[in-house]
This record gives sequence, structure tokens and C-alpha cells, in this order.
Amino acid sequence: MGRVLVIGAGGVSTVAVKKMGFNSDVFSDIMIASRTKSKADRIAAAMNRPGVQTAQVDADRVDELCALFAKFGPDIVVNLALPYQDLSIMDACLRYGVSYLDTANYEPLDEAKYQYSWQWAYKERFEQAGLTAILGCGFDPGVTGVFTAYAAKHHFDTIEYLDIVDCNAGDHHKAFATNFNPEINIREITQRGKYFEQGEWKETDPLSVHRPLNYPGIGPRESYLMYHEELESLVKNFPTIRRARFWMTFGQEYLTHLRVIQNIGMSRIDPVPYNGIEIVPIQFLKAVLPDPGELGADYTGETSIGCRIRGLKNGKELTYYIYNNCSHRDAFVETGAQAVSYTTGVPAMIGAKLFLLGLWKKPGVWNVEEFDPDPFMKELNGQGLPWHETFNSDLEL
Ligand code: NDP
Repeated sequence: MGRVLVIGAGGVSTVAVKKMGFNSDVFSDIMIASRTKSKADRIAAAMNRPGVQTAQVDADRVDELCALFAKFGPDIVVNLALPYQDLSIMDACLRYGVSYLDTANYEPLDEAKYQYSWQWAYKERFEQAGLTAILGCGFDPGVTGVFTAYAAKHHFDTIEYLDIVDCNAGDHHKAFATNFNPEINIREITQRGKYFEQGEWKETDPLSVHRPLNYPGIGPRESYLMYHEELESLVKNFPTIRRARFWMTFGQEYLTHLRVIQNIGMSRIDPVPYNGIEIVPIQFLKAVLPDPGELGADYTGETSIGCRIRGLKNGKELTYYIYNNCSHRDAFVETGAQAVSYTTGVPAMIGAKLFLLGLWKKPGVWNVEEFDPDPFMKELNGQGLPWHETFNSDLEL
């Protein structure tokens, strides 16, 4: 029924493509294209399904992308490469005439700066071309936006306080590893914290604000306030929000390694001369750290990600907590990847599926909370990410 071209062949792509294979009534033809073709071949070979094509592409190059699109003729391009490639892939989509989906907002290679303005600037061009662009369709951003839209649609008259809480209580049995692309992950975590309150963005020193929060089935975990990109679109799309924050758990071991990495300059994103060539320390670091896509085999424990919301319903205050817990082991058994790749790849597949079904299809550039949350919520339950909700419990925040 639909032809999908997936760009990137890392952990998230492994899950998304496998799940597309399980939904072959919608994804009739799949192509995986990436910088290193052998990684795409490996995903295709593990699919147990004929006809998954692979290709080599440099997604920084619009001409190369357009030539590939012309060859395969996709109905949608799913960008599971890195945030640096968002704009070149969107440019290629516009030039060729195909819709687009990603899981992370654009950031320039030489500056760890997270904002949607670059991609929102494409809105009119996508509208005029009659093409859909779905931004940030992983878990966070992604499902957290859908959860918020669902809460607004079904449970609240106004949402006033939103806290997104992201806990990884898993153990990969490595001294230090990141759960998704190390370069992107470390850039994100070492930036200054930022949250929205009373119409203003307030900054904090990196990881300086923290407190223990209780996660269902897991218990208390130290949770750190940090900036996360969905805050920007959520406060815009739900203007009644007075305060929006994002919290993520980190273990002491992880934080100690991170501090050392920073102190010795290995998190630098600028080129440094080395033996007559230039290298970017964080890119070199990525090359020696464990591949997040390979962590699954030994990973135990689970993730718990959700939204804690306070607002008004019929003039009365209501608190609401909606979350998903995902087991690393179950994710690995099903797809060969750990839960962080799983919780990102499954929503990316669902977004593409809803687009192909015509349910999430409207010309323009959209964040996920701007679509009807109901079909997405139904899919989450059916595709391995069931959600749970509690009402009027103590949100701790
Ligand atoms: P990986 O590093 O494992 O995979 C990235 C893939 O993209 C690799 O196959 C890489 O190729 C390929 N790639 C990189 N640059 C190019 C290029 N110029 N042209 C073609 N292919 C390229 O990352 P993950 O799978 O962990 O993450 C994928 C995306 O998902 C990232 O953007 C990340 O930020 C996002 N993410 C979103 C989350 C959410 O909840 N919203 C959570 C986790 C991740 P090569 O193998 O040659 O390096």
C-alpha cells in the first residue's frame, strides 16, 4: 500500500524497519538507505521478509537524495539519521515532492542548539507543495507530545503544569555507554538546563537542579532538570501552560564519566589539530564508545517515560499521570535492540503508518501534538508500547 524510504541504519532504524515489516499491509515496499550500506544490509537480512531494498546515500547531499528518491519513488521519507541531516533531507523532499518524518529537531554541527525555528521555517513550502512533514515522532519528542494532546482532548479544559519525566532504570553492564547516538546524547546533556515558566524561558546550570522522583514499578530515581526540544512546541501549541519542565534520570556512574569526559575536553564539538589532520573530539569519542545499537543483548531493567500534568476540568483542579514502561529485554527479544531504540523506533513507524493511512496527513510542517492523538494512542497499545494513566495521584512536582 505504501512505499517508505528510511534514512539511517542505527539502533532506531533497526526497530522502526523491523516494525514496518510486521505491518506489511501498510508498508508494502521498504528501502533502507544510509551512509554505511553494510549496516542497512544487516537490518534487511534480519527481516525475514523478501524485497527490502538497501542503498548507500550521503544524506548531507540533496542531489544524491533526490536521485535516490527518483529511483525508489517513496510515499514518505523517514529520517532516522542524525539531526544534522534534517534540513538537507527536507530540502530533498521538497525538491522531489515527497512527505517527511523525523524524530529529532535540526541542530547545526558546530553548535549544540536545539530549536524548531529552522524546520518551522519550511511550513509554507510544504503547504504549497501539498506535502506533510511530521517533526519529532520518537518517544520524547514524540509520544510525550501525543500524551499531552490526548490529555488536553479527553481530560482537561486547560493544562497548566506539564512535567515530562524520563527514567531509564536499565543496566547494560558497561562502565559507560549512551543509549542513543553518543555524540547527540552528550551534546544534549551537557548543555544548560532550561524550562518555561509564566511566559518566560529560565536557564539553569547543566544538571544542577535535581530531585528523586518515583517511577511506577521502579521506585525512586534521582531526576535532573534539563532542556528538551518538545518543550518549545508544547508551550506554543498549548498556550495555557504556565510551567513546562523536562526531567531525566542519570546514575552516579554515568555522571562521573560524563564529568571526566568534559574535564579532559573529549566532549568538545570544535575541530582540533591532531597529527596533521583535524578531528572533533566528541566524534572520535563516539568511535570508541559502545554502539548503542549493540547494547541490547545484556540489557536488563526498563524505561519509564511519561507526562505529569496539572490543570483544570470543570473548574476543578485535576492531576494526571500517563506513562509507558518498556523492558529492555522484551525489546531485544522482539527486535534485537534495547528499549531506548525501541521506544523511538516504534513511534516513528506508527507516525509513518498513520500518514500512509491518511490519518496524519495534512500539508505543512507539524509537531506530533498537532495531529489527532487517538489513532496514535490506539497503535501504541497494539505495537508494543502500552500506556497507563492515573488520576489525582501525587505528582511529586
Ligand atoms: P545511530 O548513530 O545509531 O544511527 C544513525 C544512523 O544515521 C547511522 O546508520 C549513520 O550512518 C546514519 N547517518 C549519519 N550521518 C549520515 C549521513 N550524512 N548520510 C546518511 N546516513 C547517515 O543513531 P540512533 O539510531 O541512536 O538515533 C537516530 C536518530 O534518532 C537520531 O537523530 C537521534 O537523535 C534520534 N533519537 C530520538 C529520540 C526520541 O525519543 N525522539 C530518542 C533517541 C534517538 P553510519 O552508520 O555510517 O554512522
